[in-house]
Amino acid sequence: MDKKAVNELLLNPDDFSDADLRMLIERREYEEMLMTQADKIRREYYGKDVYIRGLIEISNHCENDCFYCGLRHSNKNIERYRLTDDAIVDCCSKGYGLGIRTFVLQSGEDEAFDDLRVCSLIKKIKTLFSGCAVTLSLGEKSYETYKKFRAAGADRYLLRHETSDQAHFLKLHPKNQSAEKRKQCLFDLKSMGFQTGAGLMTGSPHQTTDHLIKDFRFMQDLKPDMIGIGPFLPHKDTPFAKFAGGDIFLVLRTVALSRLMFPKTLIPATTAAGASHPMGLELALRAGANVIMPNLSPHATRKLYALYDTRPNAAEETTEYLDKIRQRVSAAGYSVNMDVGHVCGA
Ligand code: SF4
Repeated sequence: MDKKAVNELLLNPDDFSDADLRMLIERREYEEMLMTQADKIRREYYGKDVYIRGLIEISNHCENDCFYCGLRHSNKNIERYRLTDDAIVDCCSKGYGLGIRTFVLQSGEDEAFDDLRVCSLIKKIKTLFSGCAVTLSLGEKSYETYKKFRAAGADRYLLRHETSDQAHFLKLHPKNQSAEKRKQCLFDLKSMGFQTGAGLMTGSPHQTTDHLIKDFRFMQDLKPDMIGIGPFLPHKDTPFAKFAGGDIFLVLRTVALSRLMFPKTLIPATTAAGASHPMGLELALRAGANVIMPNLSPHATRKLYALYDTRPNAAEETTEYLDKIRQRVSAAGYSVNMDVGHVCGA
């Protein structure tokens, strides 16, 4: 396809055929045009704003055994931890003092954080830190549990579907997990009024372009409010230790496609994207990402939340880290916005 035809195609993302998606996912020669158009669209909807979310990794225990993840239950080489409720509130307090207005509580699937405890935490955070949003990223739960979280005041929920194809899902997860259950959880969350985040892992073992096309079709059904995309990166104590890490440029093309097809979504420049290229953060922003999630977890536990081997372990204080982020975001042509930053139209 010549460049003029590609430029016209990019103006009509709702009409992308599977063949169009295949071409835009696979071909690097259209990457620059794709990213330029994605950047134009993000500026139309969100201006230059890049929203900041404070990430608190509340526990690295997990009952699941995803083949790609260093926190998997079968990994016995990891030191496990759980933050106390007081420690979690303390992390929020530090973040709030720095102007952060969204707190993301993230963990593996850990039964120790039961409904009662999570609901009490949500209420406490919402009461103590006025005007803040609480995002949960605690994995698959029952409909009733999600309902309780929502009633307690949680605003958003992140649950990456990773791959929407069941056969591919089973190459990445043990048989007791399923893509159908994951997708149902996402539809449940959406139906309850959560700002709902789906997401995928690019370059995961056994992934094909067909799988990625299916992911975009699934997201067209779900209409997520947030989309997290990161490359597969190996962890030495997992069955996928020997697979090569995913390619940052495939991440950029899928981020840009997400921005075009779902223009109102909040899209993070993920830590994994940043870890896979020295300019990963800036490139992701240029491809349409508009969220950054600095780590507010205690320094002692950051290195224990090792999803993959090369995960950065920001050693500096959050204040210094935020200063650096501000400089990098500004040098890339955008500006940090510390507001609560709900999804466009919410
Ligand atoms: S990806 Fe999530 S659910 Fe799977 S093992 Fe890791 S922490 Fe657990």
